[in-house]
Amino acid sequence: MSRPQRITVLGATGSIGLSTLDVIARHPERYQVFALSGFSRLTELEALCLIYRPRFVVVPDASAARHLQGGLLAAGLSTQVLHGPEGLRQVAAHPEVDAVMAAIVGAAGLPPTLAAVEAGKKVLLANKEALVMSGALFMQAVKRSGAVLLPIDSEHNAIFQCLPGDYGRGLQQVGVRRILLTASGGPFREMPLELLQEVTPEQACAHPNWSMGRKISVDSASMMNKGLELIEACWLFDAKPAQVEVVVHPQSVIHSLVDYVDGSVLAQLGNPDMRTPISHALAWPERIDSGVAPLDLFGIARLDFQAPDEQRFPCLRLARQAAEAGGTAPAMLNAANEVAVAAFLERRIRFPEIARIIESVLNTEPVLAVESLETVLVADSRARSLAEQRLSCRG
Ligand code: NAD
Ligand code: MG
Repeated sequence: MSRPQRITVLGATGSIGLSTLDVIARHPERYQVFALSGFSRLTELEALCLIYRPRFVVVPDASAARHLQGGLLAAGLSTQVLHGPEGLRQVAAHPEVDAVMAAIVGAAGLPPTLAAVEAGKKVLLANKEALVMSGALFMQAVKRSGAVLLPIDSEHNAIFQCLPGDYGRGLQQVGVRRILLTASGGPFREMPLELLQEVTPEQACAHPNWSMGRKISVDSASMMNKGLELIEACWLFDAKPAQVEVVVHPQSVIHSLVDYVDGSVLAQLGNPDMRTPISHALAWPERIDSGVAPLDLFGIARLDFQAPDEQRFPCLRLARQAAEAGGTAPAMLNAANEVAVAAFLERRIRFPEIARIIESVLNTEPVLAVESLETVLVADSRARSLAEQRLSCRG
């Protein structure tokens, strides 16, 4: 076999980052860590450097960089410490990198992920917010550079696995009727509506099936995660919002389905463990061991399905509206959501206010056509300040 592939893991200290490193460690002959990045938990990041011995590591600022560089030198490591957005861009686009795991959470992941795409890398996309914000520009950049974009989000990875290799010709051309995007419904699927007012960040982050970072856990509880994923699916598979149907499936065993015109419905199943889509994308088109236990169908025994309840989950309706509006609407939806979720995690607002803040931002700001990254970033920052204003009004 040829030399190991050199991998940059952006967001290495997070849930997806650590699962990626777990898979990489199982296959040292195939993969080698080229660069890691982390924004907090810098002691853990240092420990990861000692294990994976990357060429580069990226931290938030110069002072963190000096501190980490000292520690690494003392440990006898020649890893070079970079910092800030420029450091992230550098390790994402470095000529020696084969593949980039984009696993930073939120809008902060957009610039380095786009840099990896523009450099024509194999990009393993977990950072759905980047695609939601800048879908049209992102997909144009993929086409222009010849980057290979592989979805890590379990639903999109499942859809990718259920589509034929030539789906890029168009969903209709390959006989697809609909995409069925499954959702667990999160921890509040059955809670009496009036109690949603009282839920805590801890309850929101206690997902019944998946162990994830705090932001995506809250998004799952509000079903904004599914809304972002609906937009993500439209960009990845060139689908119209109406071609993507959300199906609540509480067991999280079927990760999504593709419905074909002849009545065949293909699904991908597996235990809810992100190492499956990560291994799939890392090795694609080959298959490798991920460390995930085989699926025990007898233990699972049954699979349930329900239509989503938009009264309970207004974020899903808002995301569908933003997908249909297009232009800067998804970027504003995402930005207002990031601000509102952070405020909920800081206990500044109650859970149902997340949707109200997003709706009020979307009703205030006009939707513009996306001409450049600048348009997207301006819409993002405008939506953030409006959302902040709404927060202080509630103060
Ligand atoms: P996490 O919070 O566990 O990790 C986030 C990572 O991003 C950390 O390494 C953190 O240090 C880094 N980071 C945070 N803010 C940053 C900033 N401003 N600049 C640079 N780096 C920053 O999150 P996660 O659960 O691993 O999710 C990562 C991404 O993957 C998200 O976009 C999420 O939607 C997506 N995703 C996660 C899962 C999952 O199971 N965890 C599943 C599907 C998709
Ligand atoms: Mg998902």
